[in-house]
Amino acid sequence: MSSSNFNEKINPYEVALQQLQEASKILNLDNGMFEILSKPKRILTVSIPTRMDDGSIKVFTGFRSQHNDARGPHKGGIRYHPDVTLDEVKALSMWMTWKCAIANIPYGGGKGGIICNPKQMSENELERMTRRFAYLISDIIGPYRDIPAPDVYTGGKEMAWIMDTYSTLKGNYVQPEVITGKPIAIGGSLGRNEATGRGLAYTVREAAKKRGIDMKQATVVVQGFGNAGQFSSKLVEEQGAKIIAASDSQGAIINTNGISMDALMKFKKETGSIVGFGNAKSITNDELLETECTILIPAALENQITNHNADKIKTQIIAEAANGPTTPEADEILYKKDILVIPDVLANGGGVTVSYFEWLQNLRRDYWTEEEVNNRLDINITKSFYDVYDTHTKYNVHMRKAATLLAVQRVVEAINIRGLWP
Ligand code: GLU
Repeated sequence: MSSSNFNEKINPYEVALQQLQEASKILNLDNGMFEILSKPKRILTVSIPTRMDDGSIKVFTGFRSQHNDARGPHKGGIRYHPDVTLDEVKALSMWMTWKCAIANIPYGGGKGGIICNPKQMSENELERMTRRFAYLISDIIGPYRDIPAPDVYTGGKEMAWIMDTYSTLKGNYVQPEVITGKPIAIGGSLGRNEATGRGLAYTVREAAKKRGIDMKQATVVVQGFGNAGQFSSKLVEEQGAKIIAASDSQGAIINTNGISMDALMKFKKETGSIVGFGNAKSITNDELLETECTILIPAALENQITNHNADKIKTQIIAEAANGPTTPEADEILYKKDILVIPDVLANGGGVTVSYFEWLQNLRRDYWTEEEVNNRLDINITKSFYDVYDTHTKYNVHMRKAATLLAVQRVVEAINIRGLWP
């Protein structure tokens, strides 16, 4: 998703720090503890020499940031995108720490990324780059250290290559529990592919109850049509809502009579984009975000809702499928407008929750039905929704502040109980 020019200077790590600062102030956290949480525990930057199809060598830069592991091994995705920066990966790893704490699963936070444009690379080039990256980070990842997963522009295919490379390097035939989001045939979990969207739809269901919204009357706008955007909107549509506008990195479309998600997903699969989908009008990204609707789902990249457009947003609920789509200034504006934001660290936690289920199944070599996965996800994320919602009413703060507060409390408790070594 292309972001408007005014967004380009916003540094996600500074956004993450500001959120942490605000939560620390309310919790009266001491400076030392704040400092521990403000920096990743370990950051690895690697150069990835890759043989391209024309015989030349290209050296890509990759990162893995391990933010905190007081509650369990680091956990978080790997993204492939030309705009990846170290500060972005650091921010995303901090948000993973909060996300796992809110989901109350035994993981800390991590995130990785490679600066590359996967859309312009062949399958063979992607495989060579991915395997070399897996080798370069192989000493700091592992089933009890750091368990990667998919993120923007990565999926089962990349996870399979990483699993295979890691297993080969470690001399084990298979070690599926080193990574999640794998294809089913090599130890992936049923339901993982849809899990981010499914979890988001469960949180929307609860938020709608809180706001007295009948989902059958609800209209939905979705920004971004990758894995999270597609399944979020499809599963919200299944609750009776009407999707009236959608976008991807190529453009945005609107039809106030409703757009069938099955049809749009099929069209995207066949043509590579949603642009050109019949029976819909083309609009700009800015117009999309400002379209009047009941539920807005940002499912693209960071910094989409800022102090430049927050005031123009006409919705009742924002459910963040993307990580970091809303800036702190925008959060305050939306709060004043009484828009209920289901923050990323809660709304999209279904992905990492089912990653946890996948890891458990891998460790036991014992696999669950899709129904069991979905039921356990529902129970888990619904509980998290109310944990955050109750914190928001108790402290009289917006939902993101409540989510950060709750997460910081849980992580700090673990750090304090474990103590500092030596
Ligand atoms: N990349 C996803 C996220 O941001 C999934 C992480 C995981 O499953 O470990 O939550």
